[in-house]
Amino acid sequence: MKANLLRLLCLLLCLSANSFAKPVIVIDAGHGGQDRGGMPGQRIPEKGYCLDVSKRLEIALKRAGFQTVMTRRSDVFIPLGDRSAIANQYRGSVLVSIHFNGAANYDAHGIETYYHHGRDSAALASAIHRSVLAATGEEERRIRTRGFHVLRRTRGTAVLCELGFLTNKTEARRIDSSSYRQKLAEAIARAIVSRYR
Ligand SMILES: [Zn+2]
Repeated sequence: MKANLLRLLCLLLCLSANSFAKPVIVIDAGHGGQDRGGMPGQRIPEKGYCLDVSKRLEIALKRAGFQTVMTRRSDVFIPLGDRSAIANQYRGSVLVSIHFNGAANYDAHGIETYYHHGRDSAALASAIHRSVLAATGEEERRIRTRGFHVLRRTRGTAVLCELGFLTNKTEARRIDSSSYRQKLAEAIARAIVSRYR
């Protein structure tokens, strides 16, 4: 009887410890290597800015006590399937994919946030979207659902951030500033911290 009670207590303790554990955050810097990102022929490549914001996000999250995993930390090509496979290796992990937008219409500007499935993905997308808009004052271009490969193939929570248009002159100038990219990273980190603290 006593042994059973002890076992039950242990089980309850394990369960509660697990439910309070922070998820591993998989930070996915978009593109890399021969894949420059953006529109065909886009003047400003996307990949470097994605990596820069991802590294800043990594620092902010580590500071807040999160375990993080980067899908790339240099200018290398990582196939899309490998990115979701990395996230799927960590049970209960959360993937955040960092991108910048591009459009044939150079006037297009603002922030878009994507997810594909799951209530937690929807909630995190909404938290990140609101946080980035509040920090930047950029135009709100909605939270959208779309079957991007990395979102579709990641089993758990996954959100993709489009943090402004490199094809828009004004926005590209802002994105080129390191203090603005820091602001973007911190806004994303704040949303993650408040959701999973
Ligand atoms: Zn991209």
